[in-house]
Amino acid sequence: MQADPHKPEVRLQGTAAAPGVAQGLVYLLSQGMEIVACQKVADLDAELRRFEAALVATRKEISALRDDVSKKLNASEATIFDAHLLVLEDVALIDDVTREVRKTSFNVEFCFQEVAQRYVQIFEKMEDTFLRERAADIRDVTSRVLQQLLGTQPERLGQAAQQHIVVARDLTPTETAGLHDDGILAFVTEDGGRTSHSAIMARSLGIPAVVGVQGLLEVAYDDSMMLVDGETGLVIINPSKETLESYRAKEQAIRTRRDRVMQEIALPDVLSDGGSFALLANIGSPSEMADALHYCAHGVGLYRTENLYLRLDAWPSEAEQYEEYAEAVRQAKGRTVTFRTLDLGGDKRLGELAAEANPFMGFRAIRLCLEHPEIFRPQIRALVRAATLGPIAVMFPMISGVEEMRQAKTFFRQVESELKAEKVLPAHPIKLGAMIEIPAAVSIANALAKECDFFSVGTNDLVQYLLAVDRGNPRVAALYDPCHPAVIHSLIQIFGAAAQNRIPAAVCGELAGDPVWAPLLIGLGAYELSMSPSALPEVRFVLRHSSTEDLEALCARVVAGGDPSLTRRLLQEFAASKLKSR
Ligand code: PEP
Ligand code: MG
Repeated sequence: MQADPHKPEVRLQGTAAAPGVAQGLVYLLSQGMEIVACQKVADLDAELRRFEAALVATRKEISALRDDVSKKLNASEATIFDAHLLVLEDVALIDDVTREVRKTSFNVEFCFQEVAQRYVQIFEKMEDTFLRERAADIRDVTSRVLQQLLGTQPERLGQAAQQHIVVARDLTPTETAGLHDDGILAFVTEDGGRTSHSAIMARSLGIPAVVGVQGLLEVAYDDSMMLVDGETGLVIINPSKETLESYRAKEQAIRTRRDRVMQEIALPDVLSDGGSFALLANIGSPSEMADALHYCAHGVGLYRTENLYLRLDAWPSEAEQYEEYAEAVRQAKGRTVTFRTLDLGGDKRLGELAAEANPFMGFRAIRLCLEHPEIFRPQIRALVRAATLGPIAVMFPMISGVEEMRQAKTFFRQVESELKAEKVLPAHPIKLGAMIEIPAAVSIANALAKECDFFSVGTNDLVQYLLAVDRGNPRVAALYDPCHPAVIHSLIQIFGAAAQNRIPAAVCGELAGDPVWAPLLIGLGAYELSMSPSALPEVRFVLRHSSTEDLEALCARVVAGGDPSLTRRLLQEFAASKLKSR
């Protein structure tokens, strides 16, 4: 595959989100906005008649859909289509398009898209959440009208995207999950950060990804040649022959490194002097268990239960949840599966419950569950029932205080005893832990540890809240710096409190799966590290080739240095020396 020699190479820097290098043709995911060519037209009246016909056909299509949905589901689900019909009847929008066609003599699909995009931008900037969300309605309707005008089918990721690099503004976790089966080479998004959930999923799917590439959608187009470096975050459009050659060497080096670390994948989790640690997997569905076992995970350190809610796009019943958890426990074959109770909110939105101006700091995770026992109870019942099949642990997300932890525990134990009365008995005692991901939880770690059987540190959120840096916002990505001394001090405080209270501390945020970070985390006192299955081989390799003394020396230098760039350099040099020395 060759880039067009007449077009210049364009280099864009984003955030490396999932390792690996890929090159191929771009598949632009329009996400509701088609990319429409601009053409001059002679007969403007005919053009406007086409527009009127497309509006009529779209109205018919949406009305039929609304009737169908209200028959199959209920009236409230169908109201979304009423909102879409209102967009189609918006006189101002239709007048603007008509004026644009007459003024420019451009084809109506182009004018319509230009006008609709202006409307979307206006709505997106609105303060009011309700009005802001109307932008999505306009996008959706625009896409339908454009399909009528262009005679195309609704876009689906599938065949067309196979063996391509998917380029999009952003991907929802659900869309990212869909990439797996589609033979996608890599994905690149204009928005998002390294710890946004689409990036986390990319890592577990093992496809290279770069996110937060500002200006991407202005220069990437369908079928342009692209090179994606998921290790450095570099995206190169129309790469030159020389660039392609140098990357072939890099791809080869990555493959060689991968082959080497894979040779040690099944060796035990021990340091070179015999000190032990444990590596576990982060998963979000039973189907990911196969990968976890393939890479010899000791168990599951984080099962993101909200993924089921996101996949179904609805509240699952107790039976549906039980089926999923039971399958995961069965497939774990005696290894402990640590389920995290529902962590919706933030970038994992579901319906109206999480529609807020500031969702990352709003009504999410354990806060939502404690206020909605009708949601929390079926989940806990399903978990306790699954525990009859094998060992599980349960942790609560976004714990901010001792009282909250007590409430969550009390609720859990009550449901557990109700089930005991129904003769549902877990095969092993269920340990209950807290995710430590809010700075307040770090400050009170000692008191919190007395209420917990274990801690699991969620560094993705902890870094975001400690530094007040949105984990998904590319404009502040450079400030999302885990090397900040505040992060290091917090980790020391958490592990110290856990040790003092004799409870184990795990890390399940993305830092745990980073071979650059794993030595520091173990050195500072974590025992378990939980990560995307595909990250296990490299982390295991680096740790197995380190001694307790190595790790202690590394920690001492990092702590004494106290400077983010020095920390970064020390950590990178340490990991590189372990990966290169064999
Ligand atoms: C974290 O915050 O580090 C974490 C593991 O949870 P999530 O990424 O799902 O918020
Ligand atoms: Mg979190």
